[in-house]
Amino acid sequence: MSTNNIVVVGAGVTGLTTALLLSKNPANKVTVIAKHMPGDYDIEYASPWAGASYMPFGKKGSDHAEWERATWPALRDLAENQPESGIHFQDITIQNRLKDQNTVTGQWSAELTSANPWFKDFVLNFQNLPRDQLPPGIDNAQKFTSVCINTAIYLPWLVSQCMKNGCVFKRASLEHISDAAGTHHTGNKADVVVNCTGLASRTLAGVADDQVYPVRGQIMIVRNDPGSMTSISGSDDGGEEVTYIFPRAAGGGTVIGGTYQKNNWDPLPDPNFANRIMQRALKLDPRLVKEGQGVEGLDIVRHGVGLRPARTDGPRIEKDQVNGVKVVHNYGHGGFGYQVSFSCAEKAVGLVNEITQQKDRAKL
Ligand code: FAD
Repeated sequence: MSTNNIVVVGAGVTGLTTALLLSKNPANKVTVIAKHMPGDYDIEYASPWAGASYMPFGKKGSDHAEWERATWPALRDLAENQPESGIHFQDITIQNRLKDQNTVTGQWSAELTSANPWFKDFVLNFQNLPRDQLPPGIDNAQKFTSVCINTAIYLPWLVSQCMKNGCVFKRASLEHISDAAGTHHTGNKADVVVNCTGLASRTLAGVADDQVYPVRGQIMIVRNDPGSMTSISGSDDGGEEVTYIFPRAAGGGTVIGGTYQKNNWDPLPDPNFANRIMQRALKLDPRLVKEGQGVEGLDIVRHGVGLRPARTDGPRIEKDQVNGVKVVHNYGHGGFGYQVSFSCAEKAVGLVNEITQQKDRAKL
């Protein structure tokens, strides 16, 4: 059996999931190199900051929607059968206000908040809330059983699953994507490099994709637990501010957000945003604090900011050749990297297979 030397660049959810699927084939010898690894919290590393829940945003019939549909079974399976992955089932209520439909957050969540969404037939226990149960100002709302991913457990869990399959992890910060070919743990040149560098694909030499841009998300993690997830289409605090509440598995606390600020690179939590996020969260779900309490009842673990790695034309998953090095790109997953992780990784693995099979045929 001939072997394939593969270097995956990036250890966010995209790189780790791609490495995991690649490593299931014993012919693939996989090295993962990254500037940031699970355990790090950095503005250049989006994955640890995600909520992270499964809330489909893709427009009906789009690739995006198809990737979300195709990733659900894997996330459901992990919640059902591998609780050590840090993923658990959580009911979610999603509220919609028609007045948000032309705002940034309203457009972002248009499919999610529709009364008849394409995903209603496969998520668990989907129901539209009866009109008489809608809170004041809400035009429609839906409820289903989703998952919530504790990223602090899930990302290291992905590393452990990759290592079990023989992947080798190395820290490195690349200047040029083609340099990755020289970093394989065997010392041999990589047959394929998989680029999963997220937002850095905008500046990394050899990629330099100017379609990639940040969407800033400010969040906080609190010890309070309201018991289920809630989200809403927008807020009265401006078109880029929104509210969501995600209680995570295994004592991970509750992530409260947030903002959806396009082309904003500010890495520091803004106290004004934080204040508004807390006020809105309590309004959206008063179960966060004890009766009679206000925001002082929130027990904050940390404030944070993550930059969602968005791309104008959507994620880029395609083959490329840079300085003679065969590259497969898998980046640009915006605010939905977890909920498309398995299907996008599968697509990238298919492209890697095309390259390695071509290499094997050339040897015959
Ligand atoms: P990243 O996690 O940013 O990883 C990039 C990797 O590339 C890192 O390891 C980095 O060190 C490495 N790298 C970059 N440049 C170099 C270099 N030059 N050399 C070596 N290594 C390099 N998604 C969901 O599905 N559901 C949610 O509920 C959700 N909520 C979110 C909430 C917030 C506040 C944010 C910020 C994001 C949210 N997302 C959510 C989106 C999700 O987090 C991202 O889509 C996803 O994390 C992107 O992962 P990635 O692996 O592509 O990029």
